Amino acid sequence: MRINKLPVVNKFNIKKTAKVILTAVLLSTPAKVAQDSFVKNLPRYDEILKCETLPHRIEKVQKSLKNFIPITVINERGGVSHTYCVEDLKKIQNILKTSRIKTSYVFPIDSALHPYIPSTGQFGSPRPAGRAHLGLDIYPRLYGRKPPKPVYITSATDGVVVSAKKSPEKDPKNLIANSIKIMSPDGKMYSYDHMARPEDYNGSKYFDIKAPGEYVKAGDTIGIVGRTGETAVWHLHMGVEDLNEMNRQLNNEQWQKLHKKYGVYAVPRGQVDPLNKLKAGEISDILNKYRIDKGPKVDYLDKL
Ligand SMILES: [Zn+2]
Repeated sequence: MRINKLPVVNKFNIKKTAKVILTAVLLSTPAKVAQDSFVKNLPRYDEILKCETLPHRIEKVQKSLKNFIPITVINERGGVSHTYCVEDLKKIQNILKTSRIKTSYVFPIDSALHPYIPSTGQFGSPRPAGRAHLGLDIYPRLYGRKPPKPVYITSATDGVVVSAKKSPEKDPKNLIANSIKIMSPDGKMYSYDHMARPEDYNGSKYFDIKAPGEYVKAGDTIGIVGRTGETAVWHLHMGVEDLNEMNRQLNNEQWQKLHKKYGVYAVPRGQVDPLNKLKAGEISDILNKYRIDKGPKVDYLDKL
């Protein structure tokens, strides 16, 4: 049903309509039947939430974000790392929380292509020099070969874009290069990294359809699977970050040591395992369907 075709329902109308229905029914039928039809005729509370107040709430979120100014952070290598500050994130998180918008969840690329998550692409899997992988790698094609056609990345959740970063070239200073970060109403931040450049596919568009402060719905296109930043294969690196977890990491001695040792590879941002339901929540159910476990997986971060 289209939103603009729905009758206007508000508290006052519900009360008024209910009163009219109740009076009419009471006059003509026994009490039990009267109550049944009264309940049946009432619009469901969750329907009202969805149809009547959601656009209004999103508008409110966007209004509150009018003064949101993305800031540029330069990483230890001299590359642009991300473009938001933690205080802004907390503000956005709070606005979303009080607006009580619920998100739905989708797999972030076309599942008809048979994508998969290899054990080497999982959270905590080993990387050179003893460090660990802090996100999830989704391969649209076997062995991370280049897909012949652009594979579009869709937002896994509803949310507000807090950072959208473009690198015109493959930038050795950047690990993730083209990247977009979205704060979801579930309180977590989802990032999508290594996205493609326009020159990777002739005539394809950049992901500049979304800008910081914009509200996206789960399933909206936000980019194309690429190979920008520090990677040799075509894949989507998806990250799930939790601000509460970030505070824990910042105060954790072992995390501090990891950051000191591995620099940009272990910045404490509240990274959690997207496949772990306790840590990442509902999105893990969808992601786990595409997981392939072959060979050992070292999840030493779990012990921190
Ligand atoms: Zn990765």
